[in-house]
Amino acid sequence: MAGTEEGGVGEASRMPHVVMVSFPAQGHLNPLLRFAKRVAAEGVLVTLCSTDHIARRMSAAASTPVAALADPTPVGRGFIRFEFFDDGIAPDDPARDNLDLLMAALRSTGPPALAALVRRQDVPVACIINNPFIPWVLDVAAELGLPSGVLWVQSAAVFSIYYHYRHALAAFPSEDEPDVTVQLPGLPPLRPEDLPTFLLPTSPYKILKNVILEQFGNLSSASWVFANTFEELEHEVIEATANRQVLIPIGPLTDPPPEEGGSKGNGRREVRADLFKAAEESIEWLGRHPPRSVVYVSVGSVVVLSEEEMEEMAWGLKQSGRPFLWVVRRDARERLPTGFAEAVAAEGIGLLVEWSPQERVLAHEAVACFLTHCGWNSTLEALTAGVPVVAYPQWGDQVPDAKMLVEACGVGVRLPAPAIRSEVQRCVKAVTDGETAEATRRRAAEWKEAAVKAEAEGGSTDRHIKAFVEEIRKLAAPATN
Ligand code: UDP
Repeated sequence: MAGTEEGGVGEASRMPHVVMVSFPAQGHLNPLLRFAKRVAAEGVLVTLCSTDHIARRMSAAASTPVAALADPTPVGRGFIRFEFFDDGIAPDDPARDNLDLLMAALRSTGPPALAALVRRQDVPVACIINNPFIPWVLDVAAELGLPSGVLWVQSAAVFSIYYHYRHALAAFPSEDEPDVTVQLPGLPPLRPEDLPTFLLPTSPYKILKNVILEQFGNLSSASWVFANTFEELEHEVIEATANRQVLIPIGPLTDPPPEEGGSKGNGRREVRADLFKAAEESIEWLGRHPPRSVVYVSVGSVVVLSEEEMEEMAWGLKQSGRPFLWVVRRDARERLPTGFAEAVAAEGIGLLVEWSPQERVLAHEAVACFLTHCGWNSTLEALTAGVPVVAYPQWGDQVPDAKMLVEACGVGVRLPAPAIRSEVQRCVKAVTDGETAEATRRRAAEWKEAAVKAEAEGGSTDRHIKAFVEEIRKLAAPATN
């Protein structure tokens, strides 16, 4: 095992060992790593796996050699290390950007490559956990005779929607009947425009629909189905779904700020799986602004707004009169209106960054609101930070997530699509100024409290994690005694 100089490796090799496998995307890696940290903290060795391409990106973002990622890093009473497998696409092959080709390559190369990775482990493996979009991991675990589990990285509501669709347990919109209201236990009636867009007959992303539904086809072989959610947020749907599939809520999976994370305090390396290098100046810049003054804008790691939307967003933010911190990824930069970046810098009205340390940004007192695409991680991070939102969902589960934030949680407003500048301005004002904004802020603070309680020692999430670790300890007992 690598990293013998750390001195803790002997100890790690006697711990129960969990292999976790992530689909190669930031929104999948983050919750799985956060889960890994909680499990490892209880005295477990976690080997977190993804593809070679992810290794190259993590290494570049962290300025760390790929080999160093294999070193077990102490986390609480346990350890985390990374291992990678081939995704079947050459490093510089643009095929990787084509979802259909990537999925097909992963599906043929992934299973044997992962099986070989598990077989060569130097510490006996107690179980394998994967996240969605790589449903074949459960089959690999079964082939190796190992127990398996899934970490569902979207809401329990969205889990229930896909589950009922896959097993034909409710009527859904179809090409013949597009205008169907879906009725599911524990959820309000769902209009077609409230559903994950992949399920709509008009969705162009057939591959994503298929790969998500495939997981529901072999889910019965999983010993555990965890969900990145918490009881206080989704207890009705979790309870209503339990007669079909028990969901173990172990969220909100968020990272503690580094100074409270323990590992940094001990002079140890913080374990991250960042695919982008975060602009550290974001925090310093926020520090120069008064409390609750800044609009934070991000559409996550995948969504790219159209040129028209970027233009409207840009002038809408400027017209809001508030300072803004806007994440414009490198692949979206050229869609900014001509001269906008220069005007922002010259007038000092905002900061444009390619990637932000989002959780630290949301925790900063200068942030007044979060204009978000409502990816599930961003949704939970906003709730956990107690920050009001302007919801601007684009596709997939972002749509029901936005509905949850605005209607069920009452922590913000929805920006109608396609965005126009006056609406951007109106929505920002609605969640930052006046009496309604005050009420929204109060509700956001209540959600923050509920999220913190779930995660705290003795809270629902904490209890579920400890119970899982107890189970794997028993599974690993012959090897550890
Ligand atoms: N994120 C970040 N910096 C950014 C934008 C996003 O660290 O500038 C993180 C964010 O905190 C979240 C993840 O990237 O954990 C994005 O996941 P999400 O589910 O919100 O959206 P996706 O990228 O999957 O669409």
